[in-house]
Amino acid sequence: TSNLNKQYTFDNFVVGNSNNFAHAACLAVSEGYFHTYNPLFIYGGVGLGKTHLMHAVGNKLLEKFPKLKVLYISSENFTNEMISSLKSKKMDEFREKYRKIDVLLFDDVQFLAGKQRSTEEFFYTFNSLYDSQKQIILTSDKTPDEIPEMEERLKSRFAWGLIADIQPPSVEEKTAILMKRAEQMNIPLDEKVALFIAENLKSDNVRELIGALIRLSAYSSFNGEPISIELAKKTLDKFLIKKDKIITFDTILKVVCEYFNVKLSELKSKKRTKSIAYPRQIAMYLMREKLNCSLNEIGEIFGGRDHSTVLHSINSIEKKIKKEKELKEIIKILEKALYE
Ligand code: ADP
Ligand code: MG
Repeated sequence: TSNLNKQYTFDNFVVGNSNNFAHAACLAVSEGYFHTYNPLFIYGGVGLGKTHLMHAVGNKLLEKFPKLKVLYISSENFTNEMISSLKSKKMDEFREKYRKIDVLLFDDVQFLAGKQRSTEEFFYTFNSLYDSQKQIILTSDKTPDEIPEMEERLKSRFAWGLIADIQPPSVEEKTAILMKRAEQMNIPLDEKVALFIAENLKSDNVRELIGALIRLSAYSSFNGEPISIELAKKTLDKFLIKKDKIITFDTILKVVCEYFNVKLSELKSKKRTKSIAYPRQIAMYLMREKLNCSLNEIGEIFGGRDHSTVLHSINSIEKKIKKEKELKEIIKILEKALYE
């Protein structure tokens, strides 16, 4: 069997800016254009549709070419299968199975990291399929480069074909996904309510977005209340950003101190050690972003620094956010904490 989930199709996948590149690449492969993007490596955060797209390729291919040998497998199941084949001395069968596939859909390859034996076995499978010009699609939550403890020779192979990313969906995309899913599930969802959820849900994870819709719809049918923004506020309370919460200088200071584990007195002090100066710059950045305040006001809070120093700090954080994924993540976490 191919292990494919028939629910995951291109038809019910919502395409937008966040995923159109990965979607287009998958669509091309599903038309039977093998070798062009081989391997196709899709990466992106949890719950952003990587597995869905992969199955969609498999389903579409089988529709067009029913004889094709398509196999979907997660790297964990690959590992488990390999271990049990080793134990029962059936490695020949195992290898045979993986080498006669036409299209291998290998999900969450990052979990091979650090697992020497399965990595090695996968390496041989990969080479054998690649050499016989079979299509390989891989997904991961990181780029090949960013997967820790992954063998170099595999990383470099992952980059032989095309690497496509999926980004978190925008509010518009989230709204569209909710509307589409509601339609599929016969849930009477008003666009205004969908927009409200899309704008206010803390998480960017599409799985959680859909989870919120299901929760709302279940609550609505149990209690006979129609789905509305009010009902969403009530049932999804824990999952929503509290936009009406007023952020102050103090909230920002508190959140930054807690996250970086520095003392408030240190943050406000003149100390220039990196472990303090960096959180301080981030706090300044957040104040400028979140509170409509002047550079001088920020300077006052940090022991009377002048506005050009403050501006310099903020600019340096802004620049870094554009370059460093890690900092972008930190800012996201801090922003969430501000609304909690
Ligand atoms: P990942 O593998 O990236 O963690 P999944 O493919 O499992 O994410 O997606 C999580 C859930 O969100 C699935 O139910 C999937 O159908 C849905 N989903 C994700 N992205 C989209 C999208 N663009 N349109 C429709 N549904 C989506
Ligand atoms: Mg997945």
